Amino acid sequence: MLIVAVLFATVLFRFAIVLAVVYRILPATRICPHCANDLTLIRHPILRRLIPPVEHRWCIGCGWNGLVRRPPRPPGFSQSRVISRAARS
Ligand SMILES: [Zn+2]
Repeated sequence: MLIVAVLFATVLFRFAIVLAVVYRILPATRICPHCANDLTLIRHPILRRLIPPVEHRWCIGCGWNGLVRRPPRPPGFSQSRVISRAARS
């Protein structure tokens, strides 16, 4: 039984390491990595509940979309730039 607990703990530890590395390599910016335009937040309720520090963003200029780390909000942030996922479809 002890070996099962040790193996399970190592699996959890590897999973935590992978999550930490993936989180660290996500860009923490509101600037598009391809064209340097501002990224627009896409509301994603499931992602927001499961992983709050990660956001789904979309570039209006080139169409890039992807996950980014939530950067600190700048002063004067406007909610009007937020596009809900339902409005896109
Ligand atoms: Zn772009």
